[in-house]
Amino acid sequence: MLQNTPVQVLIQLLYSSKCKKVQSLLKVRKLLASNMTTKQEKCYNPNDPTVKFVDKEDDLDFLCEGFKSLRAQMSCGHAVTPTSLTNWCRRLLGQGESRFVCGGSGCSAEWTFAEVWKMALLDPEETENFRRTLTFKAARQTLITKVCPGCRSTVVRENGSDLNVLCKVCTAVKGRLFEFCWQCLREWKGARPRKDRCENDGCCNESLTTLQTCPDITFDSVRGVRGYPSLRACPTCGFLVEHSKKHCKFVVCPRCKVEFCFVCLKSYTNCIKTSDYFRPCSIGVAPRQTSVPV
Ligand SMILES: [Zn+2]
Ligand SMILES: [Zn+2]
Ligand SMILES: [Zn+2]
Ligand SMILES: [Zn+2]
Ligand SMILES: [Zn+2]
Repeated sequence: MLQNTPVQVLIQLLYSSKCKKVQSLLKVRKLLASNMTTKQEKCYNPNDPTVKFVDKEDDLDFLCEGFKSLRAQMSCGHAVTPTSLTNWCRRLLGQGESRFVCGGSGCSAEWTFAEVWKMALLDPEETENFRRTLTFKAARQTLITKVCPGCRSTVVRENGSDLNVLCKVCTAVKGRLFEFCWQCLREWKGARPRKDRCENDGCCNESLTTLQTCPDITFDSVRGVRGYPSLRACPTCGFLVEHSKKHCKFVVCPRCKVEFCFVCLKSYTNCIKTSDYFRPCSIGVAPRQTSVPV
């Protein structure tokens, strides 16, 4: 039954409640901190017709733990057990990988998340943990890349505080320095470095105007705090974020997935050190933002 559920639906369910989400995030953090390995062995259902069972060694049992489950064959041909596969994939994610690459000897096949999810018998908590890590990495990646207006190739920005970006492809093709503006995506004009705008007409950060003019709001869930702007720019990526007014003061940026405090604008980890979900922050309410990361 569960195996027929599309992963997306499962994820939506897991994500449906915000403050519950914060709670489970805490749980995930704790688990990550304790360098977890799966304690109890997961076993395949021997009657599952969708799994191909093989009589082979577990190719991912690197610590020779001797898992008892039946061995199943992955799409690349290597044999795994649910627990050895879970541990291997967790290790990949922990090492900063964002793809699931087979660890079988001489194999570099890449498995899809769907295959890993099915064959590792990921439970809801593992699913959430894996998915969260992957989403976070993907978001990070899109934040530091944009398409060059000159050649449409993907360019990675190395210096986050300078809007001026060099395209190596265009520079080579045109035989002259080709730089473009990270904000207005036109060929660069004027002096550099700049973090507010380039000299092209109309190059401006519209978020700043919005932040200055949005109305004040109050949310009753945070005791004793009133009057802050209805919009905040995510301190990490600059995306404008609204508060639902219903839940705690922490919000997760939909773009970069970083969690921050709507009241004081510190990161979740920093604010929570001296406050809690519904209490005023130790440094008070942060004023309207006058600069925004682009
Ligand atoms: Zn393989
Ligand atoms: Zn280019
Ligand atoms: Zn510009
Ligand atoms: Zn963000
Ligand atoms: Zn705070």
